[in-house]
Amino acid sequence: MTSSPSVVPNDLGAFWMPFTANRQFKQNPRLFVAAKDMHYTTSDGRQVLDGTAGLWCVNAGHARPKIVEAIANQAAELDYAPAFQMGHPKAFELANRIVDIAPEGLNHVLFTNSGSESVETALKVALAYQKQKGQGSRTRLIGRERGYHGVNFGGISVGGIVTNRKMFGTLLTGVDHMPHTHNLSKNAFSRGLPAHGAELADELERIVTLHDASTIAAVIVEPVAGSTGVLIPPPDYLKRLREITRKHGILLIFDEVITGYGRLGTPFGADYFGVTPDIMVTAKGLTNGVIPMGAVLVSSEIHDAFMTGPEHLIEFFHGYTYSGNPIASAAGLATLETYKEEGLLTRGAELAKVWEDGLHSLRGEPHVIDVRNIGLVGAIELEPIAGQPTKRAFSAFLHAYENGLLIRTTGDIIALSPPLIVSESQIGEIVDGVRNALRSIQ
Ligand code: PMP
Repeated sequence: MTSSPSVVPNDLGAFWMPFTANRQFKQNPRLFVAAKDMHYTTSDGRQVLDGTAGLWCVNAGHARPKIVEAIANQAAELDYAPAFQMGHPKAFELANRIVDIAPEGLNHVLFTNSGSESVETALKVALAYQKQKGQGSRTRLIGRERGYHGVNFGGISVGGIVTNRKMFGTLLTGVDHMPHTHNLSKNAFSRGLPAHGAELADELERIVTLHDASTIAAVIVEPVAGSTGVLIPPPDYLKRLREITRKHGILLIFDEVITGYGRLGTPFGADYFGVTPDIMVTAKGLTNGVIPMGAVLVSSEIHDAFMTGPEHLIEFFHGYTYSGNPIASAAGLATLETYKEEGLLTRGAELAKVWEDGLHSLRGEPHVIDVRNIGLVGAIELEPIAGQPTKRAFSAFLHAYENGLLIRTTGDIIALSPPLIVSESQIGEIVDGVRNALRSIQ
């Protein structure tokens, strides 16, 4: 028996919601009760066009039958199998299918349950790998200002968002940060990659000089920083990071939790930029957001460095109860099949021009100081209100929601990332919804 989806509990107090202004939200909650393809249904029965693929994850759209069926069938057939010293076929199959679409050379997969866990896993693999190679002095990790790498301790340490860090003490030691590449004075209203700032990659050289390469294990960056407002790198910036890391024996980790699985119009951001990292962090789109799952891809060189001791010994002391969970694996397989059958991993490239033209038509609307786009992701940056925390973008979000469009805001920035099944006319609806929301701001 299923409970009626439209029943809203009287008491919303017990659930302490994540990254939410709880007291404000609970006075006037916004609740979804159903979803299909490009739309959510709200608890008051309205349809809301999904301009954000949930939280950048529902890349194939909502309630896709193949994925729904795969989950139901798997739950009935094999609901759970112990993840340690035991296995089940679908986890192996899914690892193979991920490797099939991954950049060449990333041949091994560790499963996790989220982007945050994937980040921690990647950082631990990097540190342990250096040790395996007899380079145990390489313990430093380098992140970037305005980087978002989830919310666990490693991730907030290498991440560059002050609000996510300052409540939690000293965090990991031995972490340094490169500058971000966002430069409004030079790059505002760029279409696609911004022209200026590739030289910021050389800041990594400065950090290497400061600490000495022999102390640095890995560098982690998002190819396109998503959560801090869709910050797109200048041409060759990532190539330069790759050259510097290779030169100094430092591992390069791409956090592709957002850019993975088609968001940029290529399977991964690594493909878009023609740069292959040593480790790639993924989650979200892997299972279409439907079941929590992440995957960390590593090169054979890294994997093989662990396969050296006596065969009966565990090679890597890390993993989760739900690593490669059968239902998540089934969801992942059905998701990747759906992407393949519908060409979704490259659909963003086909729509990129329509998307770009649509978003850039918002230039000149009230408060807009920048528009950014790449693949099927974009951002509208609004002018900050001097001296006070701005509410402009959030009021645009509320207006859009009330009028049938889901957008996402972070500070003064509106971020957009529709499911990859979006139609051209729905792109038009998204753009019009944002335009109306901008014009509604007092
Ligand atoms: N890394 C990046 C780049 C992300 O965008 C996110 C989530 N937005 C995460 C890590 C964390 O993922 P999760 O919320 O699944 O832990």
